[in-house]
Amino acid sequence: MEHPESVKQFMVDLHIHTALSPCADVEMTPPAIVNRARETGLHMIGVTDHNSALNVAAVRQAARGTGLCVIPGVEIQTREDIHLLCLFEKLEQLDALYRLLSMSLPEACNVRRMLGDQHLMDESGCVIGEEQRFLLTAADLGAAVVSQATVALGGIVIPAHVDRGAHGLLGILGLLPGDLDVVACEISPRGDKEVVRKRLPDAIPLLRFSDAHRLEEIGVVYTRLMMRRPIFKEMVSALTNQRGRYVLEE
Ligand SMILES: [Zn+2]
Ligand SMILES: [Zn+2]
Repeated sequence: MEHPESVKQFMVDLHIHTALSPCADVEMTPPAIVNRARETGLHMIGVTDHNSALNVAAVRQAARGTGLCVIPGVEIQTREDIHLLCLFEKLEQLDALYRLLSMSLPEACNVRRMLGDQHLMDESGCVIGEEQRFLLTAADLGAAVVSQATVALGGIVIPAHVDRGAHGLLGILGLLPGDLDVVACEISPRGDKEVVRKRLPDAIPLLRFSDAHRLEEIGVVYTRLMMRRPIFKEMVSALTNQRGRYVLEE
């Protein structure tokens, strides 16, 4: 029997973009993200590019041997224009969701200059290609379908910046629909927690992550989780308040 007091505090930021997101800086390379996360004391990060999972493996490789846990993820823009963070334990699970997502993205060429480059990178930060489809747009997938597919694959869904008018769940739908299976909600860094709290079920923890698009944004906003180790299963236990793991309130 493990003792619940053996849990410790870990700093977690599950919402970070790489240079693959058109709105993110080119300096958001896999090694730079890992270095910055470690410098700022983070123990666990989620890599969540807009509508793509293609730089996740490189960040995982860049973090190998450092002790930093990199959670595979993606920030999907649903048909309703809502941003959902979909997070997994294993890359293969994320890849399965990405196959579905990839088939649901609009085929638009020559759009990468609309907002910025969409660099595919290796673990050393070298550019190895460009995503030709514009990623900051809605996939042809409803939020309920994204949530069902993610959970069926063993992942979890966290609606991003729910309080924001643009791409936020509450901003767009005004409530959490019953057919959306979510373990927690992210509120934007300066969002009013008391206001958001009243609009969501009590059991849903409210988390803050950086949504970092620039290196200096990493480590500024994070959530503290009480768990035994910084790994996916422990993180899920903390978010769902099980086995003595929990979210440390601000
Ligand atoms: Zn977003
Ligand atoms: Zn984001």
